[in-house]
Amino acid sequence: MKVGIVGAGMVGSSAGYALAMMGIASDIVFVDRNTGLAIAQAEDISHAVPFVSATTVIAGDYDALAGTRVVIIAAGVSQKPGESRLELLERNAAVFREVVAEVLRASPDAILLIASNPVDIMTQIATRLSGLPPQRVIGSGTILDTARFRSLVGRHLGIAPQSVHAYVLGEHGDSEVLAWSNARAGSVALRSFAEQVGKPLTEDDRRAIDDGVRNAAYKIINGKGATYYGIGAGLARIVKAIAQDQRDVLSVSIVTPRVADIEDVALSVPRIIGAAGVVADLFPDLDAEEHAALGRSAALLKERVESVKL
Ligand code: ADP
Repeated sequence: MKVGIVGAGMVGSSAGYALAMMGIASDIVFVDRNTGLAIAQAEDISHAVPFVSATTVIAGDYDALAGTRVVIIAAGVSQKPGESRLELLERNAAVFREVVAEVLRASPDAILLIASNPVDIMTQIATRLSGLPPQRVIGSGTILDTARFRSLVGRHLGIAPQSVHAYVLGEHGDSEVLAWSNARAGSVALRSFAEQVGKPLTEDDRRAIDDGVRNAAYKIINGKGATYYGIGAGLARIVKAIAQDQRDVLSVSIVTPRVADIEDVALSVPRIIGAAGVVADLFPDLDAEEHAALGRSAALLKERVESVKL
């Protein structure tokens, strides 16, 4: 499968590297307005390929995206000193106006995979700009938060994160909701599992895990300026589900008709992902507190997206 990546910065290049390492794509094409950067990233990643896969990695202009089935959009501008969040959003919306139109001109049937932050808002903007059905405009959303949640719970219980079934819902950001009430390990409710293996999850443990998931990005940014390997692998994971029509259940963001009484808002819930993009949305049973928190997250995102002029 041919995959396009628009934006060859840290996130886009990490996604390309993960795709090449996982051997999912036959071809990867980088596009960036900084042509030199796109060429350099493609060269560098193509030198890793002989060790693991047979992926062709090139840089090109938008026309080179013809025939891509998925295009990852990781392009964006960063905050200028003194710039408000809304001003930044509007500049990024302008980037998307150009990028989304060019991508669809070159590859009208592609599924768009949005990685630029704030990812839920950018996903909703890309959906509006493209006029595509929401199932084909997928934001990475909380895929990484869910992975962090599973990894911290797994570490506490002394089991592999793959054996933990738990999701982070809502915004990829401060208002996200860790769905504890329906979390399971194996097929056993988390609380019971923890007691059976002699590692009870106290309120303090849960608070520490919640804090670890919610603040992971801030801690990484403090240490190295940006986060990219985790999200790069998460993006590659979504591409794999599409490429292989896997029908995996992943927490990703698309514009959703109704979530906790809020209409038409992009946020994450678990969704089935296959060759056509999102095949179905799933709404887990939540306790009253989680449900209210998801409603607050949805309302906040809706308010923010409505403030952006397109
Ligand atoms: P991140 O850490 O999110 O990857 P970067 O700043 O490293 O952020 O990467 C963003 C990339 O998006 C940059 O390489 C930049 O050149 C690219 N970019 C910005 N605007 C456009 C645009 N209009 N078209 C194509 N690429 C763009």
